Amino acid sequence: RAKASLLEKICFYTASMDEQARDRRDLGADMWTALEAGDQFFLHYQEQLDVVTGAICGYEALLRWQHPTRGLVSPAAFIPIAESCGAIMPLGDWVLEKACQAAADQDLPRIAVNVSPLQLGDVSLVDRLRAILLRAGLSPARLELEITESAVINDRERALHILRQIKAMGVAIAIDDFGTGYSSLETLRLFPFDRLKLDRSFTKDLERDPKAQAFVEAMLMLGRSLRMTVLAEGVERQTQMALLARIGCGEVQGFLFGKPRSLEQASLATAS
Ligand code: C2E
Ligand code: MG
Ligand code: MG
Ligand code: MG
Repeated sequence: RAKASLLEKICFYTASMDEQARDRRDLGADMWTALEAGDQFFLHYQEQLDVVTGAICGYEALLRWQHPTRGLVSPAAFIPIAESCGAIMPLGDWVLEKACQAAADQDLPRIAVNVSPLQLGDVSLVDRLRAILLRAGLSPARLELEITESAVINDRERALHILRQIKAMGVAIAIDDFGTGYSSLETLRLFPFDRLKLDRSFTKDLERDPKAQAFVEAMLMLGRSLRMTVLAEGVERQTQMALLARIGCGEVQGFLFGKPRSLEQASLATAS
């Protein structure tokens, strides 16, 4: 009996693995169709604020997928699939194009765009980026690329070479989700980042967790000595914000100031 149930478990496990693999394959195929159709992807924007002045210093573009049958699919679910089926390349270009156009049209002070490490594996990104900025009529100084280090950066030398060229163009580079996963001190030492985005896990319980506070203070110090602005992600409460201001955090982003939404909705909120 015990053996049978173990076997059942294994069969069930294998079946659900198959199902997951099928699901990923289906979503991957749907993604290519969506790219052709052109009306399923859109961008939401979330403001980034200067702590001292309270002014909006930029917006982060966040990709959304309105799937025809599944509804809104989260980027946390579809970006990894896009990375494994190759769709991240055309999709990444689409995001850059749309975000730069929006930034120029709406006169945004700065636009931050998430870039997959896979996009940094192709040197032609540099020329495509230059063309995108020209078409949009956006000064490179108003664009920032957010990079999350991950297991897929397998050629650091090449990524570094590409990032240096992008930086030479005048585009800023941020390290995203710093402090978690693969975002290591080693990367910080090697790559030319302008901004350090502290992962939400550090700000989440900031007022209640002295250890988290110690980490944030240490990272602020590190940021200062490496001449990087530190931005705290995921700020949801006034008490968090007060503490971040007190310990000298440069910039903030989070639901307290605005959820990611369309630029029309965002500008209505700032106008009122
Ligand atoms: P991320 O770049 O670290 O973006 C921050 C995520 O935190 C966003 O989730 C945002 O909606 C959420 N967030 C912002 N403020 C708060 C807050 O106060 N509280 C909480 N709980 N969450 C907050 P989202 O939009 O679901 O995106 C998830 C991830 O997907 C992003 O993390 C980014 O890594 C990836 N992603 C999104 N758009 C793109 C894209 O165009 N290209 C690539 N390669 N990745 C993208
Ligand atoms: Mg980001
Ligand atoms: Mg982040
Ligand atoms: Mg993230």
